Amino acid sequence: MKHLNISLRFLIYFTLLVFACKRVETNYSKQTVVCPIGMNLYQRQALPVLERKLLISGLVNIQNYCPDIIVDLKYSSEDNFIGINLYGNLKNAYLQKEACEKLCHAQNILNNYSEYLSLIVFDAARPVSVQQKMWDMVEVPEQIKHWYVANPQKGSIHNYGMAVDVSIINKNGELLDMGTDFDYFGELAYPGKEYYFFERGKLDSIQVQNRELLYRIMSEAGFYVSKTEWWHYNAASLNYAKSKYKIIK
Ligand SMILES: [Zn+2]
Repeated sequence: MKHLNISLRFLIYFTLLVFACKRVETNYSKQTVVCPIGMNLYQRQALPVLERKLLISGLVNIQNYCPDIIVDLKYSSEDNFIGINLYGNLKNAYLQKEACEKLCHAQNILNNYSEYLSLIVFDAARPVSVQQKMWDMVEVPEQIKHWYVANPQKGSIHNYGMAVDVSIINKNGELLDMGTDFDYFGELAYPGKEYYFFERGKLDSIQVQNRELLYRIMSEAGFYVSKTEWWHYNAASLNYAKSKYKIIK
């Protein structure tokens, strides 16, 4: 009887899996499995631990809503300022639904400007436990550390799924030149100082134009740029995020 119950359970899980998901073709010959947030237990258990945490927090997978957006999570690799993989095998980027809708709007604005370009997401929702590791490891003086990494005691808008780190990539897979890499710590990455550095020969006209393009489409979609990082955009204030959502632990 016990064996029968287990077999029945697997049959139910398998049936739910087949009917709960559908495949979506994207422009990049990639297939994304789209499932409702209340996906069955069998499927949820197959996901990375961190991804399950994000789903349980009510966040949405950006590429389920905007398949044209490219995702390359820098903290799922060693290609970041800390040099270690903080996200494990997480490959999908998550946001609160209202932030995701704004990002899709930004992608549509970019598509209208040029079908040759796409947004690329380097980071989106980020648990506060990862934020703490970043805070501990960033190597700048304590008094200016908060310019580069939000203090985990106060919380970052990333920790509420309302911020995204983003750039622009062309269909050949080449990033537009923004004058610095993602996660560059220094004034050269400050939005608003482009002309200051252009006049001093530290940024060229293409780099300034590329940053302006990113700023224009993200602002038009309702995002606010960081004061120190050209790639960081908030979908709302920290107070708004705290009032509406729980922090992701
Ligand atoms: Zn950021």
